[in-house]
Amino acid sequence: MISAEHRAQVLRERLRLTLPAVDVCDIAQALGIAVNYVVLEGLSVTTFCHDTEIEAFVDDTQPDYRQRLALAHAIGHSQLHPGRAFACTLVAPEVTAPIRRVEREASRFAAALLMPDWAVRWLYAKGYSDEELAEVFRVSTEAVFWRLHHLGLIREQRYRATAD
Ligand SMILES: [Zn+2]
Repeated sequence: MISAEHRAQVLRERLRLTLPAVDVCDIAQALGIAVNYVVLEGLSVTTFCHDTEIEAFVDDTQPDYRQRLALAHAIGHSQLHPGRAFACTLVAPEVTAPIRRVEREASRFAAALLMPDWAVRWLYAKGYSDEELAEVFRVSTEAVFWRLHHLGLIREQRYRATAD
């Protein structure tokens, strides 16, 4: 079983994404995913992975960093769960437990795509704060926090997800 982390890493390498921060719209385009920006009532993103085409609908009333996470999550579904449809709410999914396996996988893929392991470890070792990391990767500080925790760089009682 290849992990979501590894799949995201392979995708980054395939698309030659060498900078820490990625353009998720470019990635979606490279993968042939049609991205639509709409108003989604109470949802962050919906993903439809048909046989021949993949569509993602992103809630454009959300801040930029949330839209990036939502689209990266949709890309995760498209790569990990082909042929299926998803309607996802990403308002702090990391602390909402329990969550479905497929949602956890898509969220992990998104985190790995937006915040690659090597870059997070390197900058963290240089002393970057959560806020600085959030700025580098253009994500929320919550997303950074979750990523640091998942990579084993911090242990924090605040973190209550039952991820594993
Ligand atoms: Zn999802």
